[in-house]
Amino acid sequence: MSKLFRAVILGPPGSGKGTISERVASSFGLQHLSSGDFLRENIAAKTEAGVLAKTYIEKGALVPDHVMTRLMLPRLEEMTRHSWLLDGFPRTLAQAEALNSACELDVVISLNIPLETLKERLRHRWIHPASGRVYNMCFNPPRVQGVDDISGEPLIQHEDDKPEALVARLRHYKDVAKPVIDLYRAKGILHMFSDTETDRIWPYVSSLLSAKIPTDLADAQRATTH
Ligand code: AMP
Repeated sequence: MSKLFRAVILGPPGSGKGTISERVASSFGLQHLSSGDFLRENIAAKTEAGVLAKTYIEKGALVPDHVMTRLMLPRLEEMTRHSWLLDGFPRTLAQAEALNSACELDVVISLNIPLETLKERLRHRWIHPASGRVYNMCFNPPRVQGVDDISGEPLIQHEDDKPEALVARLRHYKDVAKPVIDLYRAKGILHMFSDTETDRIWPYVSSLLSAKIPTDLADAQRATTH
């Protein structure tokens, strides 16, 4: 069997991480594993971890490391025969260390977006608190303004996405992410991309992955995911 390929994508809220991840998944046939989506599935299914996680997500806080690792590592174990791109995990050094002991990564993509750009994007972000679904009034608006597409319930703007709290929140993200980035840089697998536009970053990410992912693997993965 060809070698499997494991990648992580790091980036602050509003960095375009979700968009890049979706493009990687469809262009290279990697499984896109999003910790946020996985948490939302657990919240919807009212699992023990989901019920616990919900209280943190509603406050805009990080879910504690032990809850995250207990959720994510078994999920990764189910994926031992697949190549994947992990999005949203690890977010802290403790999570990165837990991931290290579970598997070996090939590439870490880090999105380094100017603070002004992130502020502008997040100002327009609204969420549906019960499910954690996120909308952006500019790029990804709900079908009906102010209302969740699925439940029809009202959307709210996080205290944290309001302009006054945003800068503090992004700084906090940076502080928590720095040791994670440093760890991957020291391992020699970190690839950092900086720009204000996702469409300008994508060609660089795509050519990096084209060089790193063997073509036979990309073809095989695409065949199993479609
Ligand atoms: P996301 O969809 O990645 O923005 O995640 C939504 C929310 O889930 C975040 O605001 C956090 O509260 C929580 N979350 C997702 N991934 C993690 C993680 N690796 N560690 C802690 N909390 C997380």
